[in-house]
Amino acid sequence: MNHDHYDVIIVGGGPAGLAVAVGASAAGLKKILLLERHPRLGGILNQCIHLGFGLRYYKEELTGTEYAARYLKTFHQSGTEVKAASFVHKLTAEKQVTFVSPAGEFTVSAENVVLATGCRERTREMLTIAGTRPSGIFTAGLAQEMVNIHGIRPGRNVVVIGSGDIGLIMARRMTLEGAKVHAVLEILDHLSGLIRNKIQCLDDFGIPLYLQHETLQIMGKDRVEAIRYRDNASGKEHVLPCDTLLFSVGLIPERDLLIDAGVEPGNGIYVVGNADYVHDLVDGVTKDGEKFGRSLGRR
Ligand SMILES: Cc1cc2nc3c(=O)[nH]c(=O)nc-3n(C[C@H](O)[C@H](O)[C@H](O)COP(=O)(O)OP(=O)(O)OC[C@H]3O[C@@H](n4cnc5c(N)ncnc54)[C@H](O)[C@@H]3O)c2cc1C
Repeated sequence: MNHDHYDVIIVGGGPAGLAVAVGASAAGLKKILLLERHPRLGGILNQCIHLGFGLRYYKEELTGTEYAARYLKTFHQSGTEVKAASFVHKLTAEKQVTFVSPAGEFTVSAENVVLATGCRERTREMLTIAGTRPSGIFTAGLAQEMVNIHGIRPGRNVVVIGSGDIGLIMARRMTLEGAKVHAVLEILDHLSGLIRNKIQCLDDFGIPLYLQHETLQIMGKDRVEAIRYRDNASGKEHVLPCDTLLFSVGLIPERDLLIDAGVEPGNGIYVVGNADYVHDLVDGVTKDGEKFGRSLGRR
């Protein structure tokens, strides 16, 4: 073997990956490597400046960024070797992991490889909506990154499609940034996100939630100009002018590495956190990740 070999390699430096490292270290494992594609650790927490994190784990209500900063202090005591800005593009059944970083491409291997790669957002292309591809269409998470990290407001007259938590949170965020959020349209007859987010993000800001409302067409050539939608309860159709659409229509666990390797989880390759299944709250991700990390000491 002519490359570095570890007890554990963790792919992904969000809350799940950090927690696995903390647990594995507590179980006595010494050679732990964490690979993260972004320059900063913390995962999705880094773009979450709203409150609602940590009530169970820290018994305190924190923002996502505060939660990340606090947990990173624990993580840095674990002695884990970190390679940030390191994108893992290949995993093999033999537990070899290949990544690219500013220093080049490297392959490493481990007794255990843990994928903590989070999830990705479903996009407009995954739905059946007529219309062209004008600008002004974003996933809610991308809009959140634009506003909270890059200071860019994606538009002024907004409709949110789908009532997932990120959409609800972004309806409030866009309002606070001076945009007009006309409505959240949900095709189902019930809310997808947490009820607390409906109260705090829609009701408190007078943003209507329309259930059983189906988006039929995106109108506009260069930029979104309006959407056509149908109230499926009454069958009536409406056109709503807007310049921006935010899609919050679900998350998909990010498991491409596993799929490309043609392996199932087990036998030294594992999946944790949102890459395993979508978690609403970070506290459970941290607790489960730590527990899983500790179990690696017994495998
Ligand atoms: C918008 C939003 C709002 C939320 N609000 C709340 C809330 O109010 N309260 C609450 O408790 N929870 C909230 N959550 C849920 C919680 O934040 C998530 O459940 C948690 O972040 C999941 O952690 P994770 O580590 O599995 O994934 P992530 O945080 O997504 O981390 C995955 C990491 O893996 C990295 N990665 C992926 N692929 C690769 C690769 N190939 N190579 C290297 N690195 C890779 C990514 O860059 C990322 O850093 C929210 C989530 C979102 C998206």
